[in-house]
Amino acid sequence: MRWTVFKSQFCGFAAQKYPTKLQLKNCRLARRYEMVDRNLKRIAMCSCGKASIEVKGDPEIHGICHCNNCKQRTGSAFGISAYFKTENIFAINGEFSCYSFHGSQTNSLQQRYFCKFCGTTLYWNLASSPDLTGIAGGCFVENPLGVPRYSNSYKNKFSWVKLPWRMKKYS
Ligand SMILES: [Zn+2]
Ligand SMILES: [Zn+2]
Repeated sequence: MRWTVFKSQFCGFAAQKYPTKLQLKNCRLARRYEMVDRNLKRIAMCSCGKASIEVKGDPEIHGICHCNNCKQRTGSAFGISAYFKTENIFAINGEFSCYSFHGSQTNSLQQRYFCKFCGTTLYWNLASSPDLTGIAGGCFVENPLGVPRYSNSYKNKFSWVKLPWRMKKYS
């Protein structure tokens, strides 16, 4: 993208050939704040559409995980976990079944809620983080989440999965 186009999209100041360091810093700040909208409402929905969970703002913790459990839970290459403050969840609709088990990674009790009709795992609670609710990131279809911040169980990643270089990687 050409610099002038980039700047007019992300910055408030008029286009000029050589911006000052301060203008560049402001530009980066503006971009950072544009990505965070504390009042944006999002709906995560199961594949049949009968179950949903509504949240406000961005997740507190947002990452992907390559462990076998996440692969088996999703049937995909990795799981996307978005943890929201429970106070930012304002509606849970639909009928759910619950799968309770002791998670080895967090060494705590975990309760996974999945749609009774289609089986999509939509959200979960960890006894180790009682003020957070995990939501399956891929279920936010209309208003998708941004780029996850970290990658868990990195050594168990499929070799063909390529991740953004800025993502923090934990083994
Ligand atoms: Zn469903
Ligand atoms: Zn995992």
